[in-house]
Amino acid sequence: MDFRSDTVTKPTEAMRKAMAEAPVGDDVYGDDPTVNELEQWAAERHGFEAALFTTSGTQANLLGLMAHCDRGDEYLCGQQAHNYKYEAGGAAVLGSIQPQPIENNPDGSLDFGKLKAAIKPDDSHFARTKLLSLENTINGKVLPLSYLAQAREFVDQHNLLLHLDGARVYNAAAALDVDVKEIAQHFDSMTICLSKGLAAPIGSLLLGDKAFIDRARRLRKMVGGGMRQAGILAAAGKLALTEQVPQLKVDHANAKLLAERLSDLPGFNVNTDFVQTNIVFAKLDDNVDITAIASKLADEGITITPGNPIRFVTHKDISQQDILLFTEKLAKLL
Ligand SMILES: *Cc1c(COP(=O)(O)O)cnc(C)c1O
Repeated sequence: MDFRSDTVTKPTEAMRKAMAEAPVGDDVYGDDPTVNELEQWAAERHGFEAALFTTSGTQANLLGLMAHCDRGDEYLCGQQAHNYKYEAGGAAVLGSIQPQPIENNPDGSLDFGKLKAAIKPDDSHFARTKLLSLENTINGKVLPLSYLAQAREFVDQHNLLLHLDGARVYNAAAALDVDVKEIAQHFDSMTICLSKGLAAPIGSLLLGDKAFIDRARRLRKMVGGGMRQAGILAAAGKLALTEQVPQLKVDHANAKLLAERLSDLPGFNVNTDFVQTNIVFAKLDDNVDITAIASKLADEGITITPGNPIRFVTHKDISQQDILLFTEKLAKLL
């Protein structure tokens, strides 16, 4: 059992078969039929003009930010945003784009008053504020549809573009019980990770209008992301977005169960209201030696990342039985 992330999911049997049988070509020449099919299908499925298959979510965000922003432009984002905090500063390093982070509210949203105050006037002292980047889900929390509609209104008012880091946007759609288009419709661009809970081995998508995706395609080549017979990966990616989507609701129910079990344990404090998708955070009392516990669990084939708060992620390779067994073992160790 591996609770570190949903990135640890292994491809399904159906994916292995589709990968073996996928028709392929050189995608840098635009010749890979499986990549082309995925990109066309994904654009239409999510309500965008065009799509680009990328090596990772980090690359999809980087290309998105660089295709929207020039050197000396700025994007507004959350202090906790993946594309600010966890992507090695790529937009700044490679794009010369300045991030302007804003403290996230406890529910993951960004306050429009604070965002407004951070927009720079047109003045040579300042970077040019170009874009607002949101993330959904963010740390497992879902941004409400009403908030997304407000964000659209806000960017229209202030002449900004709106990007969604939708690495786990399908988890958000599952939690809200809406079609993913209901979320996507508000954004100029969006990314989707195929290799997290959706279980593809490799790959993400960037979605947007045609001119934007053309710029991103050129940038993808520049950062070394032009792949050749990538249809082998796109074949699995298509199944991620079709066959694997229903699994996310199972993962969410398992996360709820895990949260409830954990909150019964001594020294584990869980705000179960914040467990909306497949990620569970627990605050630990000072007397819990989580490093020692992690090492004992590892001896039994259970992998967790020690930390405080500690994060657990559920996914298709963790069953309900696994969660019951894990929390029993944890109770004994405590
Ligand atoms: C995982 C993740 C990414 C990056 O995806 P990689 O494929 O790991 O590069 C981007 N944004 C969010 C919110 C993520 O969770």
